[in-house]
Amino acid sequence: MIHPDTALRYINDEIGYGVFATAFIPKGTITYVKDELELEIPLDQLQEYPIQLQKQIEKYSYIDPFGNYVLSWDLGKYVNHCCFCNTMSTAYGFEIAIRDIEAGEEITDEYGLMNPQEPMMIQCHKVGCRLFVQKEDVHTYADQWDPVLKEVLLLIPRVNQPLMELIDIQTYSELNYFLNDPNQYKSIRNLELQKKC
Ligand SMILES: [Zn+2]
Repeated sequence: MIHPDTALRYINDEIGYGVFATAFIPKGTITYVKDELELEIPLDQLQEYPIQLQKQIEKYSYIDPFGNYVLSWDLGKYVNHCCFCNTMSTAYGFEIAIRDIEAGEEITDEYGLMNPQEPMMIQCHKVGCRLFVQKEDVHTYADQWDPVLKEVLLLIPRVNQPLMELIDIQTYSELNYFLNDPNQYKSIRNLELQKKC
């Protein structure tokens, strides 16, 4: 589930829809939790769906480390990529605001953390845009992104967290483990799709 202070808006014909903050969302706010309503489709079962649905799954899902497409039941699936995103996935199964997000600002993500199977063209129109994302991004940028995430995760107890009650018990205990001892931080390298033996 995505943060409740969000709304879907049409941007333009090129980008389509995007998700916008309807209120100020401070840095350190959990902005997405993989809740119990999210649809999980194992990668190797995609072919069992009609082509039209396969296209929807591939367009709107992210891929978790365990080899599942995860398709959001709510606005979460419309969040666009930006190379200078304001939210980011963590290895704790939730996403977090990595900087303050003003009301009216678009909520953006880093698709490089979502295991794109093929290199994916992206156009965020920012100076320094990487132009495409690929599954290797998590390795390439982990040393750059982990310190950012580690810093904002420590803010979790200090800001309002409307999604906190959706976090499962195991994640909650892992998070508390980290909050009590920041050396126990779980790197985003854990988001990489695990190879099957
Ligand atoms: Zn870009």
